Amino acid sequence: MFPDAQRYLEVTEFRRPRVALIFTGGTIDSVGTDRLDLAWYIEAGKRLDDHELVNAVPELQGIADVTEVPFRRLPSQSIKDRDLFDLVELIHRLVDEDKMDGVVITHGTNTLEETALFLHLTVKRDRPVVVVGAMRPASAISADGYLNLLNAVRVAASPAAVGKGVLTVLNDTIHSARDVTKTATYRVDTFQGRDLGPLGYADNDGRVLFYHQPVRPHTTATEFDVTGLHALPRVDVVVSYLGADGVMIDAAVGAGAKGIISAGTGAGRPTPAEDAALDKASAAGVAIIQGTRVGSGRTVQSPGLKKKGWAGADNLQPWKARILLALALTKTSDITEIQRIFDTY
Ligand code: ASP
Repeated sequence: MFPDAQRYLEVTEFRRPRVALIFTGGTIDSVGTDRLDLAWYIEAGKRLDDHELVNAVPELQGIADVTEVPFRRLPSQSIKDRDLFDLVELIHRLVDEDKMDGVVITHGTNTLEETALFLHLTVKRDRPVVVVGAMRPASAISADGYLNLLNAVRVAASPAAVGKGVLTVLNDTIHSARDVTKTATYRVDTFQGRDLGPLGYADNDGRVLFYHQPVRPHTTATEFDVTGLHALPRVDVVVSYLGADGVMIDAAVGAGAKGIISAGTGAGRPTPAEDAALDKASAAGVAIIQGTRVGSGRTVQSPGLKKKGWAGADNLQPWKARILLALALTKTSDITEIQRIFDTY
């Protein structure tokens, strides 16, 4: 019995923790053509059968009563709003009706941080929700998914994880869904908190250790309730580069965007042509959030942005700012309120 599971038994009056496992696909249950297929296994389109991943890690049952819950399994770049709404509903049901103590979601790493942030802002329960993935397919030599899954279940079963919002666990490291981003295409230490670092570790002695906790509101403490919603307002991300014109911005507006995240150069500077197109979009009622393509650091609402009626993305990556802006737009289109939301979450 691992120490954290032991502690859990004590606090749950000798009841073993119950952890639900939702498989949404990704590399963790993908199968390559051979053990050295570490790069293009996705193109083989093969996955483990239902239960195969769980059966390959019998040690899971030493930590918790683990129940596999059916869901669609996809490469994570195929996930859509609908899947996100279904996940929120499923998590609520698993906690309320099935009395789960924690939920683990396996997910492709490509968009893992976007799903994790959405859940972090919209799940209305305090039970641990852990999103886990892998960088090497299940068939690979030194596949990382098996231990990542075990560690995710340890965290989900740990009383220390209650009330900390949605967490990601890969490479022994626990991050807040708010902070984490994928930083490398193939490395197993790809998930990083950049400026903000990890919250703790699911360490090699079997212990779940937190050294920090999220201070920004999440889950039960947010103002976002997606019950009954099936789609998010359209928000597009436009990346700046030398000589970029306003074509992408005009196209986003033409496609019906209600918001645009501008991933500007440096501390958030679009090119002059983009700037003009964004001003036009803003005048037409599209919410503009200025972010950065740099990868870390804050983008602030400068006096100039304030005057233009644009908000700053803080230190959210542009694709994560897209999630927050889409949720903000379910509540308001007032830019002062939207800036408050970016400053809050
Ligand atoms: N390469 C991805 C992964 O690591 C595939 C995906 O995101 O579905 O899971």
